Amino acid sequence: MNKDTTAEKTVFSRPSALFVGAHPDDIEIGAAGTAAKLVHSGWDVGYCILTKESDAETAETREREAREAARILGIPPDRTMFLDLSDSYLEVTGETVGRLRKVLEENGFNPDIVFTHTHADSHNDHRAAYDIVLAAFRKKPILSFAVVNSLIRSEFRPKVFVETVEYAEVKGKALRAHRSQDMRINLAAVGNLNRGFSSDIGCSEAEPFELIMQEGAEDLLYLVLSLNDSPFHNFWYPLLHEQPLVLIHSVPVYRRKKDYGWSASKEQEGVEFLYESFAKMWYDRNPVMSKSSDNNAVEDHLYNSNVLLSGSAASNQFIRTYFDHFQGPRYIIDYTMPDYKDLAIVDRVSGKKRYARYLEDDLGSSMLLKDAGILTIMNNPMRTTRTFIGCMGIHGFGTLGCFKALCMQGLLRELLAFIEFPLQDKGFQIIINNDIEQGSISIEKESLHVIPYP
Ligand SMILES: [Zn+2]
Repeated sequence: MNKDTTAEKTVFSRPSALFVGAHPDDIEIGAAGTAAKLVHSGWDVGYCILTKESDAETAETREREAREAARILGIPPDRTMFLDLSDSYLEVTGETVGRLRKVLEENGFNPDIVFTHTHADSHNDHRAAYDIVLAAFRKKPILSFAVVNSLIRSEFRPKVFVETVEYAEVKGKALRAHRSQDMRINLAAVGNLNRGFSSDIGCSEAEPFELIMQEGAEDLLYLVLSLNDSPFHNFWYPLLHEQPLVLIHSVPVYRRKKDYGWSASKEQEGVEFLYESFAKMWYDRNPVMSKSSDNNAVEDHLYNSNVLLSGSAASNQFIRTYFDHFQGPRYIIDYTMPDYKDLAIVDRVSGKKRYARYLEDDLGSSMLLKDAGILTIMNNPMRTTRTFIGCMGIHGFGTLGCFKALCMQGLLRELLAFIEFPLQDKGFQIIINNDIEQGSISIEKESLHVIPYP
């Protein structure tokens, strides 16, 4: 192949991925379903084993088995590569990095994405494989997989989950091709690890991957995320910019009447729901979120961080102070209320107001039937390299609805269908309805407002 490959690739835009394993069978254990899925989806897929055993006979057997496994996964022989470095002594050096680069060059293969071992692994060769890949592919996204036998579970932090339930059979076959390793490969343990993550994120049998975005890899992020079957991660990963999210909530602006105190507790429920969702699905030791309602600190957060401004109409003064003065949002909350029933979402374009719905009883107190909230997702106007999110209900139920739309896989899947990332030149506002009687939360697609940035 010659240099025209690059041009051809652009024309056909056929994406490509390389799988790198320290030993024969590592790729099959950690990512065989994904490899088979990519081949099936038309990707150009390569397979590379870094080491070989010192005993010539064993080495030959293992290479034969690996070629058979790669063939089962659908990887063509000219994309199946062996570096023959020494087993158990793998090291990241100029030489090993150079060897990997050279083999790919000889094969005319320049992958968009590279899959390899996670660093959360106690096997020295596996860790070295990770280091070699990082050094060899400076500007590529790296997806790192788990080899269950030596995985350090508490340090493994996957963000990409590829549903491979349809490839379970082919994965099993590829694993069994490593006949000499029959005693070592624990098929049940591999399945259990993947199903554990899958049940957290709502998949059947997804393979989990950590995502390492090296400098210069940004353009390929969305190709990576197109493989991801977890809407939660597809939504939050590009928004957070690997920075924490500061949640600014509930600073009451006036004393509430007794009969609608329910508002505040619902907002709190939403905040907790978001916290729990991150705790369950984000797999990170450091908390992604922190809370703030300290007036002095808030200003600092607003100017420097990813922020989530949360509140029902009556409960967050920062919404009035800041959000209502942003350029671009079409929907804001009207606070000029003599009575809670006058609280409304105002459409600044049409002037229309939208109210919550109430049921009155004979004693003059009222119950809320339907509430709504404004979900805003845009660049933080005060720090455009950070994200601003607003969850603003007419009452607490509306705020809660917005929080649920940010956490629940089904609602996020709907949102992702019309919100385009990255938020480089536009932001979004959409109204979320919370039907309290029906117990249902829905996204009002017709209300979508695209905020153009100047
Ligand atoms: Zn291995």
